[in-house]
Amino acid sequence: MNNEPVTVIGLGLMGKALATAFLTSGHPTTVWNRTPAKAQDLAAQGATVAPTIGDAIRASSLIVVCLTDSAAVRDTIGPNQAELAGRTLVNLTSGTSDEARETATWATNYLDGAIMAIPEVIGRPEAFLLFSGSSDAFANHEDTLGRLGNAVFFGEDPGLASLYDVALLGVMWGTLNAFLHGAALLSAAKVDASAFAPFANQWLSSVTEFISAYADQIDRGAYPAEDAALETHLATMKYLVRESAAAGIDTDWPARIQALTERAIDAGRSPASYASLIEVFRGQA
Ligand code: NAP
Repeated sequence: MNNEPVTVIGLGLMGKALATAFLTSGHPTTVWNRTPAKAQDLAAQGATVAPTIGDAIRASSLIVVCLTDSAAVRDTIGPNQAELAGRTLVNLTSGTSDEARETATWATNYLDGAIMAIPEVIGRPEAFLLFSGSSDAFANHEDTLGRLGNAVFFGEDPGLASLYDVALLGVMWGTLNAFLHGAALLSAAKVDASAFAPFANQWLSSVTEFISAYADQIDRGAYPAEDAALETHLATMKYLVRESAAAGIDTDWPARIQALTERAIDAGRSPASYASLIEVFRGQA
């Protein structure tokens, strides 16, 4: 059994969940937090609480850090850079791709990571974690990192995990905003959100098929309207804007969708598929 020692730095909501998953799967786990009281529960579960951050780093060859932001990582780990020699730093703090690349300039054997899960899911197979950076570091610690959830590696560019992270979060916010707007629209007709939700979920499973088909068109750079032309989408979008206005709910969300589509149509993409909107998002329409 792999029982590689691990150090977890940062014991906020997520850091605690990470340390608990390592402990539960049998890894000797050392922890450190700026506010020491947050380590008490973990000590009761068998974690070793390091008195200083230097002790925490020296305790393991795999160091996992999860703080509020990149500035906190730089301020906390940066002064202890020398202690990292020969060790792997895995940074699960959210940040931008440029921040990840900057950290990689001073942290050797660096893996940047993003967590696509909430704390209570950590350690379960439905959690997935994205990594990029040193491929040797990932190969050496993949097993241990897999204790946290399904670990995916995107290659040597340390910025890629962060880019995937924000792109995926954008999918989440876009989808949730669309659901909330739809629920507001139906609530004006006294339909409960819980009555709408099953239909929204069923429709989303069709939308996932559109995503796969459109990804193929985007990669080919060809947008044949095999399902519906952009002009057909635009005509129907106008109903969403009109219904929203009639119901007295916010029209900003559907009006923005309509405006994006009109820009693509103005650029001559009227007979193309919905995937051709990618050129608007790329700033090329
Ligand atoms: P949190 O509960 O607010 O914990 C923040 C942690 O950062 C605490 O351990 C805090 O220490 C530490 N910290 C902040 N500034 C510091 C500094 N200057 N020096 C030293 N330590 C510092 O946040 P969280 O929910 O655990 O999130 C941590 C990271 O995980 C964030 O980047 C977040 O985006 C990411 N994430 C979170 C979730 C989630 O569902 N929670 C999901 C995915 C990704 P103190 O205890 O001393 O304040």
